[in-house]
Order: sequence, then C-alpha cells, then structure tokens
Amino acid sequence: MWICSVCGAWLEGSAVTLTPAGATIACPLCGLHEPFVQDPLWWITGSPGSGKSSLVPQLRRALPECVVFEGEAIDFWRFGGETGDYAPLYDQWLKVGHQIALGRRPLVFVATALPAQLDACASRGYFSTIHFLGLVCRAAEQEHRLRARPAWRSSGDAATIASACEFTRRLEALAREHPDTLTLHDTTATTPAGSAEIIARWVRRGQ
Ligand SMILES: [Zn+2]
Repeated sequence: MWICSVCGAWLEGSAVTLTPAGATIACPLCGLHEPFVQDPLWWITGSPGSGKSSLVPQLRRALPECVVFEGEAIDFWRFGGETGDYAPLYDQWLKVGHQIALGRRPLVFVATALPAQLDACASRGYFSTIHFLGLVCRAAEQEHRLRARPAWRSSGDAATIASACEFTRRLEALAREHPDTLTLHDTTATTPAGSAEIIARWVRRGQ
C-alpha cells in the first residue's frame, strides 16, 4: 500500500507498471509516475501433510538473514468469498509480504498456493521474480501424517487426504511441465532439519 506523494490517493499493487526503463508506480488519479523497486520473493508451497509447518522453525534457524513467514498466520477462512476460490487471500498474502519485504530482508513465504494463483493477483506487481519450491512426499507418507494429527483438526478423513495428495501430484506435474518455475523438495525420508538445510541452499542460490 502506497500513498501518492502528489494527490494523496491510495495506491494498490495494481498501480505498479512495468516500463522499458523499469518498474514504476503510477497514480490513476493524478498521473504521477515514480520509480518502484520490486523485491524477489521465495515461496514454499505444499498441501497439508507435505511438511510445511514442521519445516518453518527449522528454516528460521537455517536462514537467520531472512524473514520466514507462515501464511496460516492470516486466517484463511475469512477470505473464501462466495466463490470459495481464495483469490482475495492470495492477494492479501502478497500485500503482507510486500510490507515485510520493505524491511530489506529476503522474505520466504510458506503457504499453499499455485504459481498461477499468485500471478493472477493485483498485488503481484510488488515483486519481481517469485522463486517457487513445492514440498512433496509419497502418498502413503502424506496419508500417515494426516491420520496421525489430532482428531479436532479433521485431517484424517478420506476426502481431506485425497485432496492433499492430489495437490502434491499436481505440483509434481507442474514441475515436470515447468522445471524453471517450480523446484520440488521431497520430505518423505528427510527430517525437517535436513529439509531446512537443503532449502536454505536453494534460497541463497536465488539471492
Ligand atoms: Zn496521485
């Protein structure tokens, strides 16, 4: 969120415009164009049971120079909307991510989303490259993890397990089709600490 320095208008991420000279933020009310510095973003995606939550504390230790933010800190159920597609949630994630990135520390955002879902957001322009890494694991292991969760989390029913495993297969297919846009990390036989070390190297390669 920016405020136009000339007319005071609120400027959203959709006001970021790419020009041959670089990114600018353009005020739709007064026409002001100002240079805008886009930040890179590292995004770790994966469905329930893929290992996101157990990874996060280990990743913070492995990447002390970064901010590691877990997207579930923002209540997803407030953003389902009438269509239930969570598009407003994805945009909110990018808005929050932008505010964190303004602190000039690399941001590693951990939340379930597909690259195309972020690319469709009005706030996508806040960022330059989004480096995507998908957490995957074998179906039997993912099912085992979900069934082991406390009953109140309602993770062990057949529909939830099928949906989570289907998302994992979808990430694998996306990585096969677009290896340049999505890197995979398999957590089936790796400890969270071991995964964090591998993923920390992936983040630093992109800096
Ligand atoms: Zn203005």
